[in-house]
Amino acid sequence: MTENHNTNTIAAIRLALSGGSATASSILESCLNRIDRLDSGIKSFITVARDRARDRARALDDKIKKGAATGKLAGVVVAVKDNINISGLPTTCGSRILNKYISPYDAAVVQKLEREDAIIIGKTNLDEFAMGSSTENSSFFPTKNPWNTQHVPGGSSGGSAAAVAANLACVSLGSDTGGSIRQPAAFCGVVGVKPTYGSVSRYGLVAFASSLDQIGPFARNVDDAAAVLSVLSGRDTRDSTSSPRSLDGLEDLSRVPIKGLRIGLPEEYFIEGAMAPEVASAVEKTVSTIERAGAHVKKISLPRTQYGVATYYIIAPSEASSNLARFDGVKYGLSSSGSGLIDSYKETREAGFGPEVKRRIMLGTYALSSGYYDAYYLAAQKVRALVAEDFRRAFQEVDFIVSPVTTTTAFKIGERISDPLSMYLADIFTIPVNLAGIPAVSLPCGLADSSGLPVGLQIMATHFDDVRMLGFAKSVEDLVQFKPLEI
Ligand code: GLN
Repeated sequence: MTENHNTNTIAAIRLALSGGSATASSILESCLNRIDRLDSGIKSFITVARDRARDRARALDDKIKKGAATGKLAGVVVAVKDNINISGLPTTCGSRILNKYISPYDAAVVQKLEREDAIIIGKTNLDEFAMGSSTENSSFFPTKNPWNTQHVPGGSSGGSAAAVAANLACVSLGSDTGGSIRQPAAFCGVVGVKPTYGSVSRYGLVAFASSLDQIGPFARNVDDAAAVLSVLSGRDTRDSTSSPRSLDGLEDLSRVPIKGLRIGLPEEYFIEGAMAPEVASAVEKTVSTIERAGAHVKKISLPRTQYGVATYYIIAPSEASSNLARFDGVKYGLSSSGSGLIDSYKETREAGFGPEVKRRIMLGTYALSSGYYDAYYLAAQKVRALVAEDFRRAFQEVDFIVSPVTTTTAFKIGERISDPLSMYLADIFTIPVNLAGIPAVSLPCGLADSSGLPVGLQIMATHFDDVRMLGFAKSVEDLVQFKPLEI
């Protein structure tokens, strides 16, 4: 099968299918060919589900041939982060502890995608249990940044970001607890959306920190991210945090005119010295362009930003220590037959979890233990409320808040792995969004001069303003004219 199908965007796929110049199978094959050619160097996939994807593409082609109605994502090739369950395929979470675990059920988002005739091509690499910012914490292998394979793709959804950047799939899914969609999107030069907490069902997502986790899309442009989110969002009774409020207007997304918009620049996110100058300059250039297009740009303050990372590293590990208690060798995956129940728990968890996961479990268990609960977990929850209050106040004055996604471009593989604190600081600008539960999008806005690596612009909006946020992102995308990677 040739590689000349343009599978880059949903619009291109629609056109090719309706004009008869491609079939779902030929589009899939061109992605599989690219995986064969490129993924040994990038390593974005843990599992490529060739047979399953081919069967589904063939069934879709039959449906098209018969003239039957097809779904909104017909023939769109999707890669799924490997902490989201797909029936009959392994779910590894990048961990040895899920060794040989085959999922018996589909996550809600998988059901929704496939109901709309999307073709899922495989499961992507991630930091173990989504804990990390570089994909180096995967217990299988690190993923490489397709722009420069000496560099990390970001994390924890690094495989999903890299797969879309290298056009191994048209779109992909990630999960974002503290930045795991937006930071790798920024590092890989693709669009990544963290929707409002509660707008996408997490049924079938392996929980990391349940009060923060949210599933969202990666895509090569804003329209495609919005189209995928339109399919993912909506109430699901199987996730008690799923909201009845729907996100209307994502399909055929309208641009939000820039003229007259009030845009806030948080002064705490533009600190000289803390930020790589080339990131600052790419972001500032984009902000000037937005201003010239007629927006009122003003400085705002989110004074509790400085407490975000510390607050997150109490709340997220606390919830993780509880969520990960289920991996004890009894129900899932790896099971070590120690002498007696307690020993077998211990041996399984000792052998199955990697160092970062163990660190988080210990931090979380400590923060939740009696005598420390008030000083850590309860205090963190109070600070969290203050972080959310900062945003609430800001959104009374501005329509959107704009900032860099990260302080640097993609760092080198190995550079931060032995320094957890510097790794944790990769999420300094993304974490407050999760603490507040608001939506944010990472939009590629330029390349750093010295390295040629992408820079991301973060746009934040108030709760359930995802549609307008993406409409604004689409207008900014027009102005920026970012050129996706060609490989
Ligand atoms: N990098 C952050 C962490 O390690 C965020 C991860 C995420 O969003 N899943 O916890």
